[in-house]
Amino acid sequence: MGQRREVDLATFFEDKSDIFKIPRVYKNRDALSGNFIPDELPHREEELRRIAQYLSYAIAGNTPPNLLILGSTGTGKTVTVKKVIKELKNYAGGMVETLYTVVGRTQQQTLIFLGQQMGVRLPARRGFDENWRKFKNSIDGDKKVIVVLDEIDKILPSCDLLYYLTRQQNICLVGISNKIGVMEMIKDKRVISSFNPIKIVFKRYNSSQLADILRYRASMAFCNGVLDDGVINYVASLAAKSGGDARYALDLLAFSGDIAISEGRSKITVDIVRKAMNEVEIEYIRKSISDLTDPQKILLAIVVASNENLSPSAVYNICKKVMLSYCGRDLTSWRLSEYMSELDLLGFVRIIKKGRGKGKGFSWYVQLDMSRDVILDIVREELNKMDIDFEHVVKLVKLAKGG
Ligand code: ADP
Ligand code: MG
Repeated sequence: MGQRREVDLATFFEDKSDIFKIPRVYKNRDALSGNFIPDELPHREEELRRIAQYLSYAIAGNTPPNLLILGSTGTGKTVTVKKVIKELKNYAGGMVETLYTVVGRTQQQTLIFLGQQMGVRLPARRGFDENWRKFKNSIDGDKKVIVVLDEIDKILPSCDLLYYLTRQQNICLVGISNKIGVMEMIKDKRVISSFNPIKIVFKRYNSSQLADILRYRASMAFCNGVLDDGVINYVASLAAKSGGDARYALDLLAFSGDIAISEGRSKITVDIVRKAMNEVEIEYIRKSISDLTDPQKILLAIVVASNENLSPSAVYNICKKVMLSYCGRDLTSWRLSEYMSELDLLGFVRIIKKGRGKGKGFSWYVQLDMSRDVILDIVREELNKMDIDFEHVVKLVKLAKGG
């Protein structure tokens, strides 16, 4: 079978009508995607059962307790909650209202997303309180409503939305976060007491659990015999080392499949997985850069452009100039330094102290903490999306260094 496909490929470029004839690797590539909700969730049966138990109170007409689902990235939080919600919808029909959204950049945006699911349009230019009233009125007061806010930490410390939601008698709020300390990010005392969630912690998967998950998803995604022996275990051990992240493992498999196809092969080998690692890494960096705030993207671009010789305050000054000329507003050095510390925490930059020579004290510098080659193009692209020319940033940096 595999042989015949290779013969097809040999004639690939001669017969233009054959351009879509590629090695048969995938049965259903979607089965590897993050949005796919599989029938089974190996090693999450217990968590699934607990969440289902609490949410099932709604079927009997009781408001379920608020929940907070915690655990690091790729531990199956989102897929497990989505699965319970899906089953609940099937089971309870219209008796229970369920809303799910990944939070937006602001509470207003998040409320708009929730409104969309209720079929109400909440204009962004209206005040938050007015939109809240409209949203509240759209909810049937006799029905139990389960509101899932995924990545809930992203709207904190703003708390009005959480306060309003948790104050409604018929709403159960389910928060999901990969920040274990998310409750400490809530500063509003009223919310701390009205949210007061039951916490359910998802542990990181170990290598053998990841292998079980991969085997199951791979059996849906790939044609028989595509995966070489050892590939699943290899991918599982890589993912276990990088934090037990199932998404990373699945992405690695999908990229490997794509590479196999692009090389005209119908088998995925450990060698192909090694090649895929690089691409996945770059994809992850791309995603984490695009998740940054606009000022953070500018700060990062300045550090990339500066080749590591600027003090934090010089970086902030350049950032203010860029912001002023491109969006007409800037931020205080204090805010920028908070943003910079976060870039440090995320592993993009390092703020370091260097001695100026014996007895001359020291200075602070900002250093790039990852390969410049890898992120240069990504940063340039992100700035482009904001209508900022990277070369302009380079010029400003040169100017600052010269001065
Ligand atoms: P989190 O929300 O914790 O970051 P996700 O729920 O998005 O993680 O899971 C990441 C990926 O791994 C998704 O594609 C998901 O379907 C898959 N996944 C996670 N846990 C399991 C599991 N136990 N069984 C099958 N697939 C899983
Ligand atoms: Mg998630």
